[in-house]
Amino acid sequence: YKAEIPDGEIIAYRKKHLGKSLSLQYKTPVKMVRGAGQYLMDQYGKKYLDTVNNVAHVGHEHPEVVKAGREQMALINTNSRYLHEGINALAGELLKTLPPELSVLHFVNSGSEANELAIRMIKSVTGSRDIIVSESGYHGNSNMCIDISSYKFDGKGGKGAPEHTHVFPLPDSFRGKYRGEGAGTAYAGEVKKLIREISDKGRKTGGFIVEPIISCGGQIVLPEGFLKQAYADVREAGGLCISDEVQVGCGRVGKAFWGFQLYDVVPDIVTIGKPLGNGHPLAAVACTQEVAEKFANGMEYFNTFGGNPVSCAIGTAVLRVVREEHLQQNALIVGDFLKTELQQLAGDHPIIGDVRGEGLFLGIEFVDRKMQPLAAQADYVINRMKDHGILMSTDGPDNNVLKIKPPVVFAKTDAEELIFYLKKILAEDFMRTY
Ligand code: PMP
Repeated sequence: YKAEIPDGEIIAYRKKHLGKSLSLQYKTPVKMVRGAGQYLMDQYGKKYLDTVNNVAHVGHEHPEVVKAGREQMALINTNSRYLHEGINALAGELLKTLPPELSVLHFVNSGSEANELAIRMIKSVTGSRDIIVSESGYHGNSNMCIDISSYKFDGKGGKGAPEHTHVFPLPDSFRGKYRGEGAGTAYAGEVKKLIREISDKGRKTGGFIVEPIISCGGQIVLPEGFLKQAYADVREAGGLCISDEVQVGCGRVGKAFWGFQLYDVVPDIVTIGKPLGNGHPLAAVACTQEVAEKFANGMEYFNTFGGNPVSCAIGTAVLRVVREEHLQQNALIVGDFLKTELQQLAGDHPIIGDVRGEGLFLGIEFVDRKMQPLAAQADYVINRMKDHGILMSTDGPDNNVLKIKPPVVFAKTDAEELIFYLKKILAEDFMRTY
């Protein structure tokens, strides 16, 4: 492989002419030139096992998905004002996976657009713009999405929660405000408290948004009983419940196709993004007939690219591949195997304080003996894993959680490889410097 433009020049050009807040990963950035399945290949032909890119849900450049997009692109690509069976086909595939209550779909182009639309629905259906959100939650890059994303407004460059956003503490039962048994009820109590505060101001709760496993919060699995109670209280106050499935949806959590199904609830609105297009910009909002009817108040909802035939062909192919290749089942089996292996590793390495998650959406939290976060060690691991050809990422408010969210074609042998190198790196000197 001969690089046409040296990496240094690409970086210099980006710095000058692309947005100044775009970031690059790793101390020495990598240039990926090919993707296949759960692997990426850099310009030197080095192969990387990918545990980061949940967008490439059914595998990087899956041949069926590529074929569907290419063939439709050569025929026609217009907007949803013309009749086309593709949009119905994608809706049909999605509806097969959703509970019957959620039977109306709107197609959009990104997770941000999906959440933006979901909040618009809340505002027009309830007449309220008071939204309850999780600490450390992230829901997208648009104005409204930033306003409901504590990860952003409470983070660098943020200005705190806007007047109509109400934040409950990160429902982390390992290192959060409430821990262990009974944490679910206690965190639900915090949501109830916010509902009361909104009503004390003479206003009404419009809605509640949370991810089923809070990704930017550090792969936080919601504690037992939390979501069911929070949904009940929000609804009693007249609000609607959104499940943000942008990261965890489409079979990734193994036990269920959608994350909310882990908790035995049915949201009013579900937002779907990343995995649906396997890398192509495609996202969706599913809602009840009632929400859809109230939202359609006479103002047209038009979206130039949302639901175009190419996107629909791709989305339909993705959902068919998930079903035909039994990828939800694979996420369950390989995810459970990996989680068990990680738990064993935790037994030998006290630096691993917690292993959590469902299916192929796992988190490994590094702490010292006093439960203090160890971010430098987490960062060290991802850089060393990269040296061994394995891509990993970190997250959480203290950046001390290793995240595992690979394409769901991840195999047991990949999990074994991951464990092999993790073991090796955990034994390195730097990992004991705390
Ligand atoms: N919701 C969640 C939970 C996300 O993780 C993201 C993106 N990281 C979004 C929404 C926004 O999606 P997009 O970047 O496609 O706009």
